Amino acid sequence: MEQTFIILKPSTITRALVGDVLTRFQRKGLRIAGIKMMQLDEDILRRHYAHLVDRDFFPDLLKSMMVTPVIVAVLSGKDAVAVVRSMTGATNCRKAAPGTIRGDFGMSGQENIIHASDSPENAAIEIERFFKPEEIFDYTLLTLPATYAPDEL
Ligand code: UDP
Ligand code: MG
Repeated sequence: MEQTFIILKPSTITRALVGDVLTRFQRKGLRIAGIKMMQLDEDILRRHYAHLVDRDFFPDLLKSMMVTPVIVAVLSGKDAVAVVRSMTGATNCRKAAPGTIRGDFGMSGQENIIHASDSPENAAIEIERFFKPEEIFDYTLLTLPATYAPDEL
């Protein structure tokens, strides 16, 4: 099964939306393979957001990602990267479609609730950046036969 990586951002912790966001992924049928709280620092954020370090908004983004600890998680499922990105919605919450996490829970481009890996390649890099191998668990949910057809597994 494919794995993807998410961060529940400080906006989610502050606005008490952790349960709502995680519940969506569990109800969808994704398996939580790893989850923990951590305080991000400038070093890890510069690597995680390397594609944005030269943008005007980067200093504000950096600060906003360190306001509280975050919750990081690895989600597992068929096509997990694409499924989680589509559940996440457009970057700016005001433009994100209703029914998506950002569309339903946010009003901001920056304070947009969640990070989700944008490709299987980046998911692998991000999982390795934020998790030790022993923090990711390979177990089978009893719901698996009701979640997928045999030829989807
Ligand atoms: N961001 C921002 N202003 C922008 C673009 C991005 O504050 O104009 C922030 C926002 O929090 C976003 C993060 O930078 O989630 C990473 O940007 P990216 O383009 O990778 O968007 P994402 O993949 O999160 O949708
Ligand atoms: Mg991105």
